[in-house]
Amino acid sequence: MGRANKHQADNNRFEKCEICLEYIPIMYYLAKGDLVVCYECGTEYILTSKKPVKLSIAEKRYDTDDYFGDVMFENH
Ligand SMILES: [Zn+2]
Repeated sequence: MGRANKHQADNNRFEKCEICLEYIPIMYYLAKGDLVVCYECGTEYILTSKKPVKLSIAEKRYDTDDYFGDVMFENH
């Protein structure tokens, strides 16, 4: 577990926003299932895979109860 620092430079990836075509940085600490937001247009994506990096546009919450949406309100 002590060998991770050799690879730090490789750990930031970029994915292209499907809406505005800006690049979205995928930080090394993000995990599969995390929410990623495009800085340019505010589109929310779910990180569905890290190797390779894959993003899926987050659907509006009305169609599923699978996500713990109310956890996000703790930021207030
Ligand atoms: Zn965008």
